[in-house]
Amino acid sequence: AKHLNSSIPSPVRVVLRVRPFLPSEIDSNGERSIPCVNLLDSDRSVGEEVTVHLKDQWTSRSECYKLDSFFGQGDRVGQIFQHEVSSVIPGVLRGLNATVFAYGATGSGKTYTMQARQQRNDRWFFIPFFQGAEGEPGMIPLAISAVLSSCENTEDCSVDISFFEIYMDRCYDLLEPKAKEIIAMDDKDGRVRLKGLSWAPIRSMDEFHEVFDTGVQRRKVARTGLNDVSSRSHAVLAIAVTNGAVKGKLNLIDLAGNEDNRRTCNEGIRLQESAKINQSLFALSNVIYALNNNQPRIPYRESKLTRILQDSLGGTSRALMIACLNPASYQEAVHTVSLAARSRKV
Ligand code: ADP
Ligand code: MG
Repeated sequence: AKHLNSSIPSPVRVVLRVRPFLPSEIDSNGERSIPCVNLLDSDRSVGEEVTVHLKDQWTSRSECYKLDSFFGQGDRVGQIFQHEVSSVIPGVLRGLNATVFAYGATGSGKTYTMQARQQRNDRWFFIPFFQGAEGEPGMIPLAISAVLSSCENTEDCSVDISFFEIYMDRCYDLLEPKAKEIIAMDDKDGRVRLKGLSWAPIRSMDEFHEVFDTGVQRRKVARTGLNDVSSRSHAVLAIAVTNGAVKGKLNLIDLAGNEDNRRTCNEGIRLQESAKINQSLFALSNVIYALNNNQPRIPYRESKLTRILQDSLGGTSRALMIACLNPASYQEAVHTVSLAARSRKV
C-alpha cells in the first residue's frame, strides 16, 4: 500500500540492511543458519515502502514491519549510497545539512557499513578503494570521495571534517590526542555548540584516511558478555563543505550498539553505559518519529545526541537511518526493526 503523499519524501528515511553470514556462523558441514528475515515486497524504488517479515526458525513466531527500503545479503554499501545518499550531495554543496545513521545491535554490521575496514596483521586497515572483490568501501569513504569530486568541479569550495564520539553523554574529540573532552555549550538560540571541536581540512582521499584512521584508533571500546569488543559510544564524522558563502554539512554516524540488558548480563559501569545508550537511541527514534509525522514539537532536548544533531535533523535537512541486522538472530532483529519501524511516518 502506497502512502497518499508518497511523492513527498519523509525527512528521515528508514531502511534495513542484512549482513551476510560470517565464516564463524557457518557450521563444520558448511550449513548456514536459516536467515530469519524475508522481504515481502520486492519493489524498492524510492517512495515505495517494503514489508519485512521476521520469522523465528525455532518457535515459528513471526512479525511484519514496514520500512522505506531493504538491502539484502548480496547488496553492497555502494548500492545504499547510490540509492539513498548520493542525491543529497549536491544539496550539501548548496548549504543543506544531512545525516546518515547506522543503527543496530553489536555485531550487526554498523561499523562495516560505515567504514568497511579489514583486520590484517593485528592492525586495522581500510580496505583500499575499488580493489576487486575485497574492496568494498563503506559509506564514509564513499561520501568523502563524492564530496571531494563535486568540490573539485566547483570554484571556491573546501572540505573539512570533524570526528568525535559521544560516550556516557560526554563528547570526545577524536582528532585530538587522547581524545580530548569537548564541553557542549548552550547557545543563545537554545542550541548546543561543541566549542573548540577541531576541524581538519581534507583535499584528497589520502589526507582523509590519514586523519580518520588516527581518530578510529582512539575510539573507546569495552568488553561485554555478548561480544569480545563492542563499541559503546556514538561516533560522529561530520563533513563540512564551504562553497563560497554557503556552508553545508553531512554527518555520518556509527551509533552505539542497542542492547537487550536481559541478555548481555551487564552490570556496574557496563549497565550504566548500556542504559545511556538505550536512552539516547530511544530519544533519537522519538525525534525521527516526530519529524516524520509533522508533530509541532520535536523532542531534541531528550538526549545529548539529538541536541548536538539538531541543526542536521528536521527543517530542510534530510536523513537516513540504516537499521543493520545479523541475519541469524530473531530476538535482536525484532528489537532493532521494531524501533526502526516506529520511527517512520504512520
Ligand atoms: P557492529 O559495528 O554493528 O558491531 P561490525 O561492523 O563490526 O558490527 O560487523 C560484525 C562482523 O561482521 C565483522 O567481523 C564484520 O567484518 C562483519 N561484517 C559486517 N557486515 C558485513 C558485510 N556486509 N560483509 C561481510 N562481512 C560483514
Ligand atoms: Mg561497531
